[in-house]
Amino acid sequence: MIREFSAGGIVYRKSEIRNPKSEIKWLVAQHSQHKGWVFPKGFIGDKIENESKEETALREVEEETGVKAKIIEVLQKPAGYFYVWKGEKRYKTVYYFLMEYVGGDTKNHDFEMSAVEWWPMEKVRKDLTYKSDKIAFEEALDLFKKISN
Ligand code: ATP
Repeated sequence: MIREFSAGGIVYRKSEIRNPKSEIKWLVAQHSQHKGWVFPKGFIGDKIENESKEETALREVEEETGVKAKIIEVLQKPAGYFYVWKGEKRYKTVYYFLMEYVGGDTKNHDFEMSAVEWWPMEKVRKDLTYKSDKIAFEEALDLFKKISN
């Protein structure tokens, strides 16, 4: 079986500039092909040789969503899932990082995503498409709570 490795970001944004009391929002995107609502991510090492997980995750977040972010914490438990590509079973491991928004605009996302949005926690919990991302999101929330205390 083919194994693949990707890295990505679970990015939060503390408040909108014009509305400092607004709630924390999380960056999600709709994949152009499979239409699932997911966190931005991409293959490690297919674009830049020897690129680290961290570099891949930051680059993919920026390319796929238009958002520049910084890494705050590493999620301890990578996400993983099986899927079938051209009749062949594959297993993908995804290393996620908790990230904080630094700048950029979701309008500048690339073609890999058909929509990019900021969602509140409850909507992310409910409307993310895949279970492995939902599990990763719970770990990201725990880490976020720890650093916020
Ligand atoms: P990457 O973003 O890692 O470069 P990709 O965009 O080419 O990869 P995936 O998002 O991994 O591809 O999608 C490949 C297949 O896996 C699709 O059929 C998709 O529906 C499915 N898939 C995507 N994410 C998950 C997940 N978290 N759990 C289960 N299946 C998923």
